[in-house]
Amino acid sequence: MKKGLDTSKNRFASTVNQKKEILVTRSSMPPIEEYIEMIRPLWDSHWLTNMGTYHKQLEQNLAAYLETEYISLTSNGHMALELSIQSMKFPAGSEIITTPFTFISTTHAILRNGLIPIFCDIKEDYTIDEDKIEDLITENTVAILPVHVYGNICNIEKIHNIAYKYDLKVIYDAAHAFGEKYHGQGVGRFGDLSIFSFHATKVYNTIEGGAICCRDRKKWEELYNLKNFGIRSEELVVSVGANAKMNEFQAAMGLCNLRHMEEEIEKRKIVWEHYSQLLKNRPEIRLNTYSQDIEPNYAYFPILLESEEKRKQTYARLLEHGVHARKYFYPLTSDAACFKNKYRSVPLVKARDYASRVLVLPLYADLEMADVDRIAELI
Ligand SMILES: *Cc1c(COP(=O)(O)O)cnc(C)c1O
Repeated sequence: MKKGLDTSKNRFASTVNQKKEILVTRSSMPPIEEYIEMIRPLWDSHWLTNMGTYHKQLEQNLAAYLETEYISLTSNGHMALELSIQSMKFPAGSEIITTPFTFISTTHAILRNGLIPIFCDIKEDYTIDEDKIEDLITENTVAILPVHVYGNICNIEKIHNIAYKYDLKVIYDAAHAFGEKYHGQGVGRFGDLSIFSFHATKVYNTIEGGAICCRDRKKWEELYNLKNFGIRSEELVVSVGANAKMNEFQAAMGLCNLRHMEEEIEKRKIVWEHYSQLLKNRPEIRLNTYSQDIEPNYAYFPILLESEEKRKQTYARLLEHGVHARKYFYPLTSDAACFKNKYRSVPLVKARDYASRVLVLPLYADLEMADVDRIAELI
């Protein structure tokens, strides 16, 4: 085994112990017959990718489901982020104000576009602290890239006002917020662009996959070119582009899973409420509560413990009993080994504090109530 590799997911060892392992998430899948029915026509047509029937159908269905005008499907959520930023054509070296309390993808997407992340602290609900954004704006700032962490929606109004005042673009990383509504509106509608991830571990999956929501046809065309080599016809390449298309097997999975979304969220809600019920009378544990303005998707169940030591103990105790909670998001992306101390340092007091105490508990549609009971008891 290579040094430094995470071996905590050694499933073999766990089967030997006959211990029931509960991972932090478990991909939702449609009944296998349903998927086979969907992919059968692909064997007849031999059309496996390149914006086939399912890709187009899923774009339509998702635009309706997410209540956005235009949506472009991508191979994964990360490429949705990268291409979103690229489509803005910011000058190299420009600064983007973002949060360090996120999955590393958000920060990498900025850097891989030749831009500089400026990290802003977060607030109680784990999203970017909008009151700290203005102080970070310089003449090089071009955009704000906030994340709807755990499905908690950022302060859309204030961020919009700041962006308007300083003429900045806003790209939301909505990877955690699939299907949510904020003040009755689909969250994909906010900002200049919003991106989703349909990775296997998310509330809604296309195995791997992602999407960019945009407001007009022109942007949609631009994103199309970016995800398909800029190819518009057999002899016409209009711009430089990558390959980030969603293929037909992914889209077929997406069409199947979309049919079951209501049930999926209802089941998650039951698990979520059961955890809340069991843990709410523990003053030393802070639970995440959704604001009244949100129609939530119950994607995650983060708890905030009293201290880093308590988090360490709780994590270890759960693991000992086969329960894989996640220190999500720890470390902060600003502290990732690959660029620690490389970018302008800003006090990230709350982000650091929360990253050291947060623990995300297992949550998925088919998690059994008895397991929730057991996890709560272990905590
Ligand atoms: C999952 C995730 C991504 C990346 O999505 P992939 O589909 O895995 O590429 C980006 N940002 C956040 C916050 C995520 O949780």
